Formats: sequence, structure tokens, C-alpha cells
Amino acid sequence: MSDPLYRVADLTKDFGEGELRTRVLKGMSFELVKGEFVALLGPSGSGKSTLLSILGTLLAPTSGTLEMLGTSLVHMEERRLSEFRNRHIGFVFQFHHLLPDFSALENVAFPAAAGAGREGRETRERARALLERVGLADRLHFRTPKLSGGQKQRVAIARALMMRPALVLADEPTGNLDRQTADQVLALLRDMNRADRTTFLITAASPSSTGGRRAKRSSFERSTIRGCWSA
Ligand code: ADP
Ligand code: MG
Repeated sequence: MSDPLYRVADLTKDFGEGELRTRVLKGMSFELVKGEFVALLGPSGSGKSTLLSILGTLLAPTSGTLEMLGTSLVHMEERRLSEFRNRHIGFVFQFHHLLPDFSALENVAFPAAAGAGREGRETRERARALLERVGLADRLHFRTPKLSGGQKQRVAIARALMMRPALVLADEPTGNLDRQTADQVLALLRDMNRADRTTFLITAASPSSTGGRRAKRSSFERSTIRGCWSA
């Protein structure tokens, strides 16, 4: 039956102080199930990046509980939190954030190399295999500026998967790409999700004319997100 990976309850996030205080997340409760592929759609400013940052433990919530793989992530000490994050969560951003002086292979191997304190043969082999999976077997030694937008995002996807995360958070991963490239990158994420049962939560901007300030959620499979983006 349902196999929860992440449980979120009564999550709120405020920014600013005093009169300028605004509540961006207004009490969200949902579960992400293992192997799920969920897309969150919402207009710019609706809180997508804020939510992903909180789920990824890069930003603390104002209130609420977060539990991933049975571990409570609220009030966890920073060093343990960063270990947990490095081990279990992969990130893909709208802007690839690849290191410009590094090759594709080095960019993908970097998280594992940094964690282990060295870049072993096993690390390089896994990085190479991932780059082959994302269709970049012939670009292993290209530096970031020599890659196209879609290729950079493929490298970023390979990098996110390097540590075999249980969850990949992808914030508008196709936001910077043309339509055809965006479709290819989305299909690639879906393939990765199917092949490995890695859970994916991706966001995409939706026009404010259809969404207003209330973002919409759609799930490609079982939808378990409830009560999110409450207006
Ligand atoms: P989205 O990713 O959907 O465009 P964001 O999560 O980036 O939305 O932002 C949601 C709201 O929170 C916006 O009104 C934004 O201005 C505000 N916000 C985001 N980050 C901060 C911050 N660090 N300080 C103050 N306000 C912020
Ligand atoms: Mg955003």
C-alpha cells in the first residue's frame, strides 16, 4: 500500500517582521509517497521555491512538522541536517548551478567526492554511467560553458542523482529551456523516476491568469498532496 517518504503537517512560512510580515505558506499538510512523481504548478510568487527549500532543509519553516524517512527534520542540528540532506535529497534548479571550470564528469562527481573527501574510481564510474544515462556519453569532458542549456540541465540531473537520493526536488527545471528541450528534460526526469523509484517533486510556473495566487497541484500518479497552497 502507500509507502510514505515524506510527511508534512501544518507547515507555515512567514517572511518579514512586524507589519511587513507575510505568510507565504499557510498551513500545508501532505505526504509524498515513495516512487511518486509530483508536479506542483503555480504562478510566480506563489511559494513554490519556498516550499522546496523547506522540504530540502535549506530553509527552516515558521511552524509545522517535517518528517522524511521517519526522521523529524525540524530542530535538527545543522551538521546532522546537512548530512541527511546530502545523503537523501537531490536538487535540480532552474539555473543549473554547475561549476564553470569543471567538466561535466567533475560536476557530477563533485557531491560524492566532497562527501568522501576524495574522488575515487567508483565515484567517477558512477558519474560516467549517469551521464551516459542522460545522453551525454560524448560530453563527459566538456566544461560547462561548452554545453547547451538542455545539456547543462542534463548534467544537473545526473549530479542530483549521484548520491542515490530518495527524493529529488526540482525547482522549475525546465523554466529556462525552449519547449522541445523542456519536454525532453521532463521525459528524462520521468524515466529516472520510473527506473529507480526515486521520488520526484518538480515545480513549474503556471500563468497567473489560470492560477491566480493560488497554486495548483497535479500529480502524474496517485496524488497525495492535500490542503496545500491554501489561500
Ligand atoms: P515562487 O517560487 O512560486 O515564485 P517564492 O517561493 O520564490 O515563489 O516566493 C513566494 C513569496 O515569498 C514571494 O512573495 C516572495 O517575494 C517571498 N519571499 C521569498 N523568499 C523571501 C525572502 N527570503 N525574504 C522575504 N520574502 C521572500
Ligand atoms: Mg521559484
